[in-house]
Amino acid sequence: MIIVLRRGLARGRAAALRRRVRRFFPEGCVTGDGESLHVAAPASMAAANAPRIEALVGVERVDLSLSESCPRVCGRAAQRRACVQVGNVPFGPGHYAIIAGPCAVEDAESYLRLARSLKAAGAHVLRGAVFKPRSSPYTFQGVGLQGLRAISEVKTRVQLPVATEITDPRQLPQALGIVDLVQVGARNMRNYELLKELGSLDVPVMLKRGQHASLCEWLLSAEYILKGGNRRVILCERGDAAATHAGPVIDLNMAVSALQNTALPVIVDVSHGTGRRSHVLPIARAAAAIGAHGIMVEVHLRPEASLVDGKQSIDLAEFRRLVREGEAIRKAC
Ligand code: PEP
Ligand code: MN
Repeated sequence: MIIVLRRGLARGRAAALRRRVRRFFPEGCVTGDGESLHVAAPASMAAANAPRIEALVGVERVDLSLSESCPRVCGRAAQRRACVQVGNVPFGPGHYAIIAGPCAVEDAESYLRLARSLKAAGAHVLRGAVFKPRSSPYTFQGVGLQGLRAISEVKTRVQLPVATEITDPRQLPQALGIVDLVQVGARNMRNYELLKELGSLDVPVMLKRGQHASLCEWLLSAEYILKGGNRRVILCERGDAAATHAGPVIDLNMAVSALQNTALPVIVDVSHGTGRRSHVLPIARAAAAIGAHGIMVEVHLRPEASLVDGKQSIDLAEFRRLVREGEAIRKAC
């Protein structure tokens, strides 16, 4: 932890601050001069005391390292990258998992047809939302609980694990046992009660980066889940809305930073991260090239008839190409 002091602080004042800071860390070591103080102390103590130190008169700011802010996600204990198993599909080193399916489950029959084709084309996990968090209350909200029955049936018949979004802890009792990978969407990355609940369960969680969330903020949300005891977290970069661009802008730097600073598997949502069908394949190629552990992509039998996110959904022919090219790029990297 580095405590940056106000410029021009009197020497006596700086020394008094140092004494004050020492009291926060009876077992830590506080060094420094009139410009900054350096604290070597257990990460959880540093994070717990930072807000109170930041409030002291004479302190300009407090800088915590990622491993101090997120000890379970970025600290020393988290340096060995392990796979997160979703059904029989490993996410992590040496694997490239493809999660594919419609934005939302629409009807059971077309979901089954699509699932069969996706499996034949190389998808490893099937996606499909039944609870849709939409910006407008007038747009399709998902088929709700009855969709879980469709998921359960399709999954048994096609033998693919399924990922679906959970927007409220109250949905969990019905979803657990059916859903293999719980998706926390961008809007819910900051839903701390949901994160805490998922932390108390033994279920794989895919945590998307929230809109304009910094790396630290995203990893802190993952920290909530790990702190509860659930280490089965997969990070998913999904881009940000950008005023200067026609659609969302994916942040592959963010995915690389997550790969470099954590031992969690990292995947890229090439659909919500681009918002446009024409950008899905190029960004999927890039995701394979940066060493992501997989992608999520929206596929529909007839994208133009999709009830939601049709403009970013690809069809089966495009999906087959994406699988082929991703494979080739992975081999080349
Ligand atoms: C989704 O995956 O269908 C979705 C709503 O994504 P996001 O949370 O990234 O908007
Ligand atoms: Mn969608």
